[in-house]
Amino acid sequence: MKMTETQFQLIKSQLKTLTSQDCFYKRKLEGIDIDAIQSQEDFEKLPFTWKGDLRDAYPLGLQAVPDEDIVRIHSSSGTTGTPVIIPYTAQDVSDWADMFARCYEMAGINKLDRIQITPGYGLWTAGIGFQLGAERLGAMTIPMGPGNTDKQLRMMVDLKSTVLCATSSYALLLAEEIEKRGIGDQIHLRKGVIGSERWGEKMRKRIAKELGVQLYDIYGLTEVYGPGIGISCDYECGMHMWDDYIYFEIVNPKTGEVLPDGEIGELVITTLKKQGAPLIRYRTHDLTRVITGDCPCGSKYPRIDTILGRTDDMVKVKGVNIFPSQIDEMLSGIPGASSEYQFMIDHLYGKDICTLFVEIDKGVDKTSMEAAITAGFKAKIGITVIVKPVDIGELPRSEKKSTRVFDNRY
Ligand code: ZN
Repeated sequence: MKMTETQFQLIKSQLKTLTSQDCFYKRKLEGIDIDAIQSQEDFEKLPFTWKGDLRDAYPLGLQAVPDEDIVRIHSSSGTTGTPVIIPYTAQDVSDWADMFARCYEMAGINKLDRIQITPGYGLWTAGIGFQLGAERLGAMTIPMGPGNTDKQLRMMVDLKSTVLCATSSYALLLAEEIEKRGIGDQIHLRKGVIGSERWGEKMRKRIAKELGVQLYDIYGLTEVYGPGIGISCDYECGMHMWDDYIYFEIVNPKTGEVLPDGEIGELVITTLKKQGAPLIRYRTHDLTRVITGDCPCGSKYPRIDTILGRTDDMVKVKGVNIFPSQIDEMLSGIPGASSEYQFMIDHLYGKDICTLFVEIDKGVDKTSMEAAITAGFKAKIGITVIVKPVDIGELPRSEKKSTRVFDNRY
């Protein structure tokens, strides 16, 4: 990606501000001559910012403006250890609302829509972000938060919700529940905005079909505002990113070298306008690539591919790198196999043993599925695994992000 002149100027002035006061980046960039940064190439020599740096700054070490300018904080859901706290100014909150409203508009959602929001509210950026964007757009929100499926469905029917905001696993759970209860004809949904999870083509088709909606992938992370910094359009060919607020690069996750457009690597984000906690070259750990060429929708905002996995989800088994997205793709080519699986790696008797649990459609013969999936795995991914077909609904569903790969070796 070529950095635009506007982006360069915004980054440059941000670097100047950050290094002229006592703050996180003054210490991080110590010894670097900011005036000597004259080009994109110079910028690409700046050190990365890691999640660990943010954790070390706990609680408010990232704050880059005086206390009186901070209006709220959010915290990343961090599974273990110290959370990351991100402070926001009123302008940050407003910029986030503008970006999120733009996401809804890209998805063809308008003021007359009724938006049912199922992600959680609170320290997490999810629910409150969906809410903020919908209010900026002027639509009616139904701020449900997660869980309580009975109530979700009742509100969905009685209030005639037209848009569902959810994680992919919760959208799937609701879709299955609607089918089970036979209430599909009472559902008025037309769009689904699905956040923060990598999901396969098969799962997408199933949710879209059972809910009767067009789905949009929304992208974001708490460290960089939250969800809403990019979204897919009607053509479902990657996600448009709001490059007037963020600058992004794709780097080799091992070496950190910037990769040419089209190559898969780790997404690295620099904020252009953020005040409370600006970030320079932040390693997201999300794997994706730049999609080149013009989008048929006509939008000029650049695109990245749907998230293909996390750098930390990648597992190495018998010398082969395996990404969850490869398993999704392999399963999507096998009729009778669903999108739901769990991949377990154990170390037994001195060798790695892989087991793949897959939900299969009702009435499909388990023995033949076992053979088909074993052969598919070997052919597409290159190793032999033990396949255990299970019935639809047997694997856990989650209201948050699902874990599909369990590495029990260490
Ligand atoms: Zn487009």
